[in-house]
Amino acid sequence: MREFRRGRLSRLDICDAHPELMRAALNVGHESRELCPICEESKVRLVSYIFGARLAPSGVCVTSDAELERISRRSSDMVCYVVEVCPSCSWNHLARSFSL
Ligand SMILES: [Zn+2]
Repeated sequence: MREFRRGRLSRLDICDAHPELMRAALNVGHESRELCPICEESKVRLVSYIFGARLAPSGVCVTSDAELERISRRSSDMVCYVVEVCPSCSWNHLARSFSL
């Protein structure tokens, strides 16, 4: 964000969500209360992925809190990443991560 505001990165550089991430954001993402800081046209959507030793290498896209809880019971060695995605301009950003 800082580099974008300083003009060191273009909008194309930071609004580069992969098509699969966009699909997840639109279909299973949860709308946040935050307006996209880049285009200010849409509220960002939150998409959660879990990565762990016994999961698919590309991670598991979590669609609900119940699914998150169910998957977290499988192993203690997993990390959840929550990504902010703008459905209008494709801006995406890792909002937070936490161990399960
Ligand atoms: Zn946007």
